[in-house]
Amino acid sequence: MAIIRQQDFIDSIEDSLQFISYYHPLDYVKAVEEAYNREQSQAAKDAMAQILINSRMSAEGHRPLCQDTGIVTCFVKIGMGVQWDKTDLTVQEMVDEGTRRAYNNKDNPLRASIVSDPAGARINTKDNTPAVVHIDTVAGDKIEVMIAAKGGGSENKSKMVMLNPSDDIAEWVVKTLPTMGAGWCPPGMLGIGIGGTAEKAAVLAKESLMDPVDIQELMERGAETTEEKLRLDIFEKVNNLGIGAQGLGGLTTVVDVKIKSVPTHAASKPIAMIPNCAATRHAHFYLDGTGPAELTPPKLEDWPEVTWEVGENTRRVNLNELTKESIQDWKVGETVLLTGKMLTGRDAAHKRIQTMLDAGDGLPDGVDLTNRFIYYVGPVDAVGDEVVGPAGPTTATRMDKFTDMMLEQTGLIGMIGKAERGPATVDSIAKHKSVYLMAVGGAAYLVSKAIKKSRVVAFEDLGMEAIYEFDVEDMPVTVAVDSTGANAHKTGPAIWKAKIEELDSIMQK
Ligand code: SF4
Repeated sequence: MAIIRQQDFIDSIEDSLQFISYYHPLDYVKAVEEAYNREQSQAAKDAMAQILINSRMSAEGHRPLCQDTGIVTCFVKIGMGVQWDKTDLTVQEMVDEGTRRAYNNKDNPLRASIVSDPAGARINTKDNTPAVVHIDTVAGDKIEVMIAAKGGGSENKSKMVMLNPSDDIAEWVVKTLPTMGAGWCPPGMLGIGIGGTAEKAAVLAKESLMDPVDIQELMERGAETTEEKLRLDIFEKVNNLGIGAQGLGGLTTVVDVKIKSVPTHAASKPIAMIPNCAATRHAHFYLDGTGPAELTPPKLEDWPEVTWEVGENTRRVNLNELTKESIQDWKVGETVLLTGKMLTGRDAAHKRIQTMLDAGDGLPDGVDLTNRFIYYVGPVDAVGDEVVGPAGPTTATRMDKFTDMMLEQTGLIGMIGKAERGPATVDSIAKHKSVYLMAVGGAAYLVSKAIKKSRVVAFEDLGMEAIYEFDVEDMPVTVAVDSTGANAHKTGPAIWKAKIEELDSIMQK
């Protein structure tokens, strides 16, 4: 019988959450490196270069890979022979204590993103608790822990369906994936849970994402089981969709497909699909009573030496001098380097602006959006001499319902976020001769280095959702929707789907 100290368990949770906030799993790094090397779409290649450079910088600087430092999701498998040294805390309470400490670490504070009363007031709990904990009992006298910090952008794209027993699972995945847009920050993984009941399929899908990337090995040795055959089938079909990194069109949308299944009712075929994003973060450890988990840091030499050069036709602009006229010749797909002042704002700030404008109160003091760009971001708090912590873009579609109002009433000329805009928003952007620029989701630490000054200008009480003014220098973005309404997230994947079909037909000849 193993006696596990509660303190060792809490320390291990704390250490592992800090560890995964800045170290990508190396299997993911290697998979993105391979995808980067074979990518032929320049936009997707550039996005993957930024993800890899960001990954290395985070590992070096011990700062978060992404500004969204995730919701803690923890699978705890407790051996039947395990005894705790004390019984005053539940497993949930111990995971929460480790989470609290990890997210309030003074050298590397992580962004607290969890809100209580989710259907109502949505109040930030300030310490990222509670975690989502799945507890199981297993044979043996060890505790196995798989812990992840799951980004909201990718979690929001989860799908669930009860298929008919005769329905084709791969067909459903291929039909569903394009409806998920790019807010899950591909390239990533798909976790698929099959069987059991509706809720069981969802837990299986999430648990499957805790496994390492190994689809290349599976391809080499060949599929033996139904699940393995399905993994290869879905992997090929999904990548043939041409969605590509960040949804800009390209050869790699997923670096692996994971599947877990359990028996189900004869009348049912429950399927859950959960994507994992460019901020793939998970750790796996065992406790056997000999002390807390020891996680071995990867070596920096294990990261590829990827550089990202600004292309010849890159446009450099001074944000302080822009007018609506000056953005009319920006073309979809073009890389732009931004220098100057921009304002930030995300869900809560937009909602408050709308309330103020509806009440006839105008914009808050200090906020003038005339000829300005707004950046959809909720940064991590700064430490040491940092101007701001990691500050990558958040999913722009969440701001779609405010965009027409912002363009119509505030003098705003453009927006910066991640992933696609909805059709009505693209129409509004064209109607207002505005533009939407895309920064790379999952490259938050890299982006933060382009921010030279930062100050809060309004709604300080909203914390990371406050309106900041950033002074940036050479912040790289891509024109995702130009002033004519041309849309990179529509044209990119369509072009690359056709190219992949063409490449396949050449290979088959
Ligand atoms: S990589 Fe994208 S989806 Fe993942 S945590 Fe960051 S912003 Fe969210």
